[in-house]
Amino acid sequence: MSHVYDRVALIGLGLIASSMFWAIKRAGLAGEVTGYARSAETRETARRIGLCDRICDSAAEAAEGADLVVLCVPVGAMGNVAQEIGPVLKPGATVSDVGSVKRHVIEAVSPHIPEGVHFVPAHPLAGTEHSGPESGFAELYDNRWCLLVPAEGSDSEAVAKLRDLWERMGANVEEMDADHHDLVLAVTSHAPHLIAYTMVGVADDLRRVTDSEVIKYSAAGFRDFTRIAASDPTMWRDVFLTNKDATLEILGRFTEELFALQRAIRTGDGEQLFDYFTRTRAIRRGIIEAGQDTDAPDFGRGKAAQ
Ligand code: NAP
Repeated sequence: MSHVYDRVALIGLGLIASSMFWAIKRAGLAGEVTGYARSAETRETARRIGLCDRICDSAAEAAEGADLVVLCVPVGAMGNVAQEIGPVLKPGATVSDVGSVKRHVIEAVSPHIPEGVHFVPAHPLAGTEHSGPESGFAELYDNRWCLLVPAEGSDSEAVAKLRDLWERMGANVEEMDADHHDLVLAVTSHAPHLIAYTMVGVADDLRRVTDSEVIKYSAAGFRDFTRIAASDPTMWRDVFLTNKDATLEILGRFTEELFALQRAIRTGDGEQLFDYFTRTRAIRRGIIEAGQDTDAPDFGRGKAAQ
């Protein structure tokens, strides 16, 4: 099969980058993949497990001469990395990223992209609660969405090539505007994560229920919350700091609904509770019908869209 790019550079070597590398290898999508991670420890691990064809000791060294450079670091670190690699980028190259927030990344990265280099932001909606160079696997993106967020007037050939890469890594690709992306993700991912973090924190604070009871009797609802709440603290801190407006908007609405349900419980309004739960059940059915989860009893625990 033909390569999509001769040389791809992955900056940051965690779950998302390592899964990209294995998916690129699986389908033979690049001639060479270089990689860089901040710590010597991660670079050492990458060399040991054969992650990337060549591990470099600086982001600039990895990016130099690459046809595609993908920034796979936490959202708050994107700007600094872009600043470092900007001067070595090859004319005609494409820079992309995988950040969970798009408006902030575009504002942080764009000023460092030189004339003649294309910037095509992206976000694969796939992940697990695991992180680091050893957590990746080739199938992560299979049948998951990857959203491309090109600026108006972006080079159509550069966008088409990146789409081809993601499709051949197994993903379904769609284009979306940055602000809309950030609002959609606030609803589908960011606010739910905050709620899970809160619920696990509440259980932990509730001294009348002992820790061992929480663990021993943890039913599906709580167990799913703990899985989500185990996600990487740096990544999620950055998501909330950089998708502030959309997340606060959704959390405001969430709080209003929560109060309404709280009142229904207090006043014994069973009809309201029943109607509400009937409406939400239909959404779950819709997700299964759309092929984004299975109806198995351990739904979503192996892989989760983030
Ligand atoms: P991860 O497993 O925690 O890996 C992060 C990588 O970035 C590590 O290699 C780390 O290097 C490096 N890094 C961290 N801080 C850095 C800094 N200040 N400068 C340079 N490099 C730095 O993270 P991930 O889950 O792959 O997430 C990467 C990106 O993908 C994030 O922007 C996240 O929002 C996005 N994303 C994540 C998911 C998900 O579910 N996890 C899904 C979609 C998109 P060291 O190992 O040396 O510390």
